[in-house]
Amino acid sequence: MSKVAWIGLGHMGVPMSKNMVEAGHTVFGIDIAEPAREAARKNGVTVVSTVAEAVRDVDAVFTMLQNGSIVTDVVTGPDGAFAHMPAGAVVIDCSTIGIETARTLAAQAKERGLGFVDAPVSGGVEGAADGSLTLMLGGDIEHVAIAEPLLKSVGEYIVHVGPSGDGQAMKVVNNAMMAVGMAAACEVSVLARRLKLDPQVYFDIVTRSSGDSWVFRNWFPLPGVVETSPSSHGYEPGFMIDLIHKDLRLANATAAEFGVQLQTAAAAQQLFAAASAQGLGEKDCTGLVLGLDETVPS
Ligand code: NAD
Repeated sequence: MSKVAWIGLGHMGVPMSKNMVEAGHTVFGIDIAEPAREAARKNGVTVVSTVAEAVRDVDAVFTMLQNGSIVTDVVTGPDGAFAHMPAGAVVIDCSTIGIETARTLAAQAKERGLGFVDAPVSGGVEGAADGSLTLMLGGDIEHVAIAEPLLKSVGEYIVHVGPSGDGQAMKVVNNAMMAVGMAAACEVSVLARRLKLDPQVYFDIVTRSSGDSWVFRNWFPLPGVVETSPSSHGYEPGFMIDLIHKDLRLANATAAEFGVQLQTAAAAQQLFAAASAQGLGEKDCTGLVLGLDETVPS
């Protein structure tokens, strides 16, 4: 069994670090928010107060943070993980941070004799809770060899996609499709309401028809039909609108860099940006429907 640090105990970090503890690993956790720390403590995570304390004696440092700029600060700052990790240890970043940030951090790790694996995840808080996440890994083979056995505690389908950044590349394309699907599910659900279709009948028929998708089935945006969807729990996240919006920014910026137009993803980015501007940024992404139709009960 290994000693690991877990930085970022939010919607994903809490259940993932719980699964690490349950697999028998010793987990040192850190978060800037007390409710997050308290939730992790209850799961058997040893909560500490500085990154230095969390990482000084571990085999691997997991990061599960909102975006690339936070991960960069936490990893490369003067009191960050790179400054205090033992030689040979590996940062395994499970956040969605984009391709270039992952490559930059991997290069900086190499200069210090450390490893960095980009290991973004898919499957949502449900997949994090039951340990069934899909993980897409980018990095050198020797670092991936350290990451893979540890990641078996949090995920089921773990694939080494290629060199540093390739895990993030895969995540960019997956989440572009997921986010477009979510935007479509929300817009069309507003139309279904206007047509006075019974939400349960609408769900039952579409999930047995060609309009079905993972997003529609698991994160159905109207309340009271899918018990496990955040829409049935006051639109509490789950996966926040501000995070799906960040993923669309990454997808559209990456597409522009490679001379590709993602027109549906550009439209979805505008929809989620508008929801964020309406004050819905910390709601679950299913809450886009609230911004589109104020009569949807929340
Ligand atoms: P979250 O906001 O719930 O969790 C992030 C946590 O990081 C918060 O608890 C926050 O307090 C903490 N944090 C922020 N700055 C910190 C710092 N400097 N030091 C320590 N802790 C700090 O976000 P989440 O939903 O858990 O998502 C995390 C990452 O995973 C994001 O990149 C997201 O895009 C990705 N992701 C999320 C989901 C999902 O369904 N929620 C699914 C797949 C991938």
